[in-house]
Amino acid sequence: MLTIPLDGDVAGAATWRVRLTHRLARHIRTSPVELAPATPLVSFTFDDVPVCAATTGAQMLEAHSARGTFYISGGLIGTQARHWRVADADHITALHTAGHEIGSHTYSHIFVPNLRSESIVAESQRNAECLRAVVPGLTLESFAFPFGFGSLPAKKTLASIYRTSRGIGPGLNVGRADLQLLKANPLMDGRLDAAGITRLMDEALEKKGWLVFYGHDVVENPSPYGCSPGLLETALRAAGDRDIACVPVAEALRRAL
Ligand SMILES: [Zn+2]
Repeated sequence: MLTIPLDGDVAGAATWRVRLTHRLARHIRTSPVELAPATPLVSFTFDDVPVCAATTGAQMLEAHSARGTFYISGGLIGTQARHWRVADADHITALHTAGHEIGSHTYSHIFVPNLRSESIVAESQRNAECLRAVVPGLTLESFAFPFGFGSLPAKKTLASIYRTSRGIGPGLNVGRADLQLLKANPLMDGRLDAAGITRLMDEALEKKGWLVFYGHDVVENPSPYGCSPGLLETALRAAGDRDIACVPVAEALRRAL
């Protein structure tokens, strides 16, 4: 069994200091931009990347001509976690070959707010080396905060390494936005239903915004941090019904700037 905690497990136990640091990081934009995509966009993202996300989830996206972003911690590759087995090198290669984006988490899936800048750089470099050993020449443009928690210093450091850092604060990315704390909405059966998906998609359409979803496993009876294939299918169909392109984070950013 893996001892590294999963996304969500630590969030509930974060200290007041971490929460305060994160709140500041949310309110002060370190990489402000004006996002104005010509068309609404959706990005499906998966953290840690359970095998079922890399197989079932990826295949479902592909069936809808969609591609997603898979944020990987090198230190978790091929391990058994509490709720799922983590994708191995062959799964990562297959995702890349199919046109999905490989994004970066910290190598050890470590909580970022407690890290010094040098440690964030070291974690990022180690993760890049690990992932490039799997996919030679891989470009890593997108980062996701493990557990969704960031800090102001971390955002500044990460801005020198990645184009974007994704959090877990809900909402639509449009207009004035912070590239180092992209908003993302949980694609999790316990937190979102078909009506919620309809509302988010209609808002993306109306405001011509960039809607990002995040999740983990894609399986019947998912963990509290994942979704059933049915919920993912509902989201993919809702995007398709509205002619909203579903593209990876790096591609969406290029279209939104
Ligand atoms: Zn994670």
